[in-house]
Amino acid sequence: MKEAAERIKEARFVVALTGAGISTESGIPDFRSKNGLWSKYDINEYGYIDSFLKNPGKVWKMIVEMISSFSHAKPNAAHYAMAEMEKMGILKGIITQNIDNLHQEAGSKNVIELHGNYRSLTCMKCKRKYSIEEVNLSELPPLCSCNGVIKPDIVFFGETLPMNAVIKAFDLTNRCDVMLVIGTSCAVSPAAELPLIAKQNGATIIEINMEESMISHVADYQLMGKAGEILPRLLNEIKNLP
Ligand code: NAD
Repeated sequence: MKEAAERIKEARFVVALTGAGISTESGIPDFRSKNGLWSKYDINEYGYIDSFLKNPGKVWKMIVEMISSFSHAKPNAAHYAMAEMEKMGILKGIITQNIDNLHQEAGSKNVIELHGNYRSLTCMKCKRKYSIEEVNLSELPPLCSCNGVIKPDIVFFGETLPMNAVIKAFDLTNRCDVMLVIGTSCAVSPAAELPLIAKQNGATIIEINMEESMISHVADYQLMGKAGEILPRLLNEIKNLP
């Protein structure tokens, strides 16, 4: 922990890659856990863009359940520690696979969302943008005034990632000399490649997870445990360094 704190303190450009694991302590289950969304909804039936296009009303039922768990969730100690690291000028940006908006709610400013955000939606026909508060979810799927189906701006399997976010994520990855990899199994691309690219460029990889992930073999430091406990401790170590 102390050595990892030292690497962070002496670094020029620290970035973080986060996944569902950073939000489990906020009450949002990750995909792999027993209570996760995919234990209830078959990923093949609900996770793909083709399923949404074929039967938006059915997939929207799952989305409403997801949104309800997100809207009740509050940032946890891990999100707040990361926001503080940014305020201190240490952390330059967060690349997240999460769509739950909790980094922003904790106060983080430079958040790159690879898989979108549940709070913004788009009409698939006329491309009109909506915020979640503007959409009436009493009848599913919600329809635009043009009668097009409204879809949340989250990335389904089979969809391309938002180009701007991908470009920014690769830019941060190429510039970093320390990458924190927090609460992600690193099972989906391109997120999974980012720590490998950073490592290839000579960056130090600090992983925070409760178990091994697909990138654990390239980690210089593995801080095993809950992100909500490890990150505040890491932040304290950094503050206590001379
Ligand atoms: P994942 O479910 O594949 O992996 C989660 C990882 O977090 C696991 O390695 C697990 O060991 C670890 N973990 C769980 N609780 C933890 C904790 N308290 N502290 C530290 N580590 C913990 O999630 P992923 O890698 O993000 O990828 C899967 C996809 O899931 C992503 O595309 C993401 O969009 C989506 N997702 C997002 C949310 C969210 O927005 N909160 C929730 C569920 C799934």
